[in-house]
Amino acid sequence: MKKHNFSAGPSILESNVIRKASQGVLEINNTALSILEISHRSSEFTQIIEEAKTLTKELLNIGDDYEILFLQGGASLQFYMAALNFSRPNGTAAYIDTGTWSTKAIKESEKIGKTITVASSKDKNYTYIPNNININNNIDYLHFTSNNTIYGTQFHTFHKLSQLAKQNSAKLICDMSSDIFSKQIDVNQFDLIYAGAQKNLGPAGATLVIVKKESLIKNGNLPTYLNYNTHIDKKSMFNTPPVFSIYVSMLTLRWLKSLGGIKSIEQENNKKASLLYNEIDNNPLFVGIVNKEDRSKMNVTFDIRNADHKLKFEKLCLENGINGIYGHRSVGGYRASIYNALKISSVCFLIELMRKLKQII
Ligand SMILES: *Cc1c(COP(=O)(O)O)cnc(C)c1O
Repeated sequence: MKKHNFSAGPSILESNVIRKASQGVLEINNTALSILEISHRSSEFTQIIEEAKTLTKELLNIGDDYEILFLQGGASLQFYMAALNFSRPNGTAAYIDTGTWSTKAIKESEKIGKTITVASSKDKNYTYIPNNININNNIDYLHFTSNNTIYGTQFHTFHKLSQLAKQNSAKLICDMSSDIFSKQIDVNQFDLIYAGAQKNLGPAGATLVIVKKESLIKNGNLPTYLNYNTHIDKKSMFNTPPVFSIYVSMLTLRWLKSLGGIKSIEQENNKKASLLYNEIDNNPLFVGIVNKEDRSKMNVTFDIRNADHKLKFEKLCLENGINGIYGHRSVGGYRASIYNALKISSVCFLIELMRKLKQII
């Protein structure tokens, strides 16, 4: 039997997606060839990447004014690439600092131009989402991280940020690596969204980019690979794309569609999160780490009140096939990542173990 996989990333994939992917490794679409050995320009792969784009648009209700790209380099390359493509000469970029990934994005932007942090939750080790955001400068864009994978906080609405960007005639850019496809969103609020595949979409290797075409500044002097226009013009085929990651991502998107789309998975995700947070709040042995209103529905961070009980809990998890439950080294405690593919039964199983701890301490 498979483990209950609460890993933060790379993370759980739906079991039929894995089965189908493994069949594709042996043979793709009766070609007598593996997905790993066909040309990325073959009709088989062209259909796969086109289906992945179409499904992305369908599931997130994205219009033709946006382009869907599958790039490489992870969200980490997007930190730099987004700044490079959306900064104007002598302009200013604004960032909201909600933890490690935002901080890394800020660092890349600083290499390109003037960068300001307009809000931060660093003062309390990123345990909340700042809501006091003031922009006094003229800015090119506002960048934020929708879900803070490491700390377990999440922006539950984008309305305020989108208004703020609009008022400042600024573009809105979001790193959605760890909550894309987990809930319904209005893509029209954004000029750029990016997400590494390995949290909620597929295996590592591909990075999904959703970019509003008219928001891009035409700048032919950018390094070729780092220019979004290159990839728009070449339909994500400027160079060899991460074929396998895109294939498995497409299979995941098919699965999401078969469930009834994002609305259905959002309901499931809400159920899973509320079950687990209820247990954290009602079990006297455990305690949540972040501000209640800002709790992430993807990465649930918590701790054990009494340090003497930790080893017992960890042993219980180990013996019962719980994987990836340790908190990030910068936070400590525990983190249960409950991405789309993690079943509600796995959440219930973890809750059972949390209750069992009472009996064995
Ligand atoms: C994992 C993660 C990243 C880093 O992604 P890579 O694809 O490894 O570069 C960036 N941002 C967020 C929110 C993440 O969860």
